[in-house]
Amino acid sequence: MTKPVRSKLTCIVINREFIFTQIACSPAGYFFCLKRIENVSPTEYFYRQPSLILYIDIHTHQSPNPSVWSIQNVHEHFDKLYPQSNYSTGIHPWYIDAANTSLQLDRMKIASQASNVLAIGECGLDRICLVDFRLQEKVFIEQISWANEIAKPLIIHCVKAHREALSLLKEYNRTAPVIFHGFNNNEEIAASIIQSGYYLSFGKSLFSPSQEKVFAGISNDRLFLETDDSEYSIESIYAQAARIKNTTPEQLGNHIQQNAKKIFNSPTL
Ligand SMILES: [Zn+2]
Repeated sequence: MTKPVRSKLTCIVINREFIFTQIACSPAGYFFCLKRIENVSPTEYFYRQPSLILYIDIHTHQSPNPSVWSIQNVHEHFDKLYPQSNYSTGIHPWYIDAANTSLQLDRMKIASQASNVLAIGECGLDRICLVDFRLQEKVFIEQISWANEIAKPLIIHCVKAHREALSLLKEYNRTAPVIFHGFNNNEEIAASIIQSGYYLSFGKSLFSPSQEKVFAGISNDRLFLETDDSEYSIESIYAQAARIKNTTPEQLGNHIQQNAKKIFNSPTL
């Protein structure tokens, strides 16, 4: 009797497109049955390989990696989104065009209605950039209101303006889940964000000793991890985060996946 042929789902990337194929392995050796599998998401790929962790990169400017569930951030060219990726679309305070703010917001609003745009952002306030602070507040309020209208979470960029950002969110946000991304601040500010019912996302700052204590004190049900525009891989950020929390990347990954499921409307989670 011939032994059954074992097969394995694998993934290759050609021209930024994820191609899922079935590779078959016979008892006599390998042969390839390069049958293209349609309708397989990166998450399904993960589930068929249970030894792997589902890495979730909540905010990135890097190209998509098929084994990572990620949200790519876009602040312009809103009409150039690929259907197989997840996105956040928003007007970053650095890129507010004072002469064309309404047009920028209109374009963002149209793009954000696509089902693979999972969040509005990054948007927020930045005391260091040159854009007028009142204008930043106006554009931020518009985006908070829009996130509420289309029922999508907000991803917040905030530099030296946490008090103001929290006060605008308190006034204008009714229902949208909120993630303060790229957190790199003290315990007091972290506590005020958590007390407001919001989430914190950490990235490269975890490699600086001053953030270790802050991160260690954040409850696992309020956390996300991200690569943003850093050179770190999401795998190395998970490993560092797990080390600080004295746990495994798998256990931490489980918490993060539950957090993502709670707030993102995505069939691939
Ligand atoms: Zn960013």
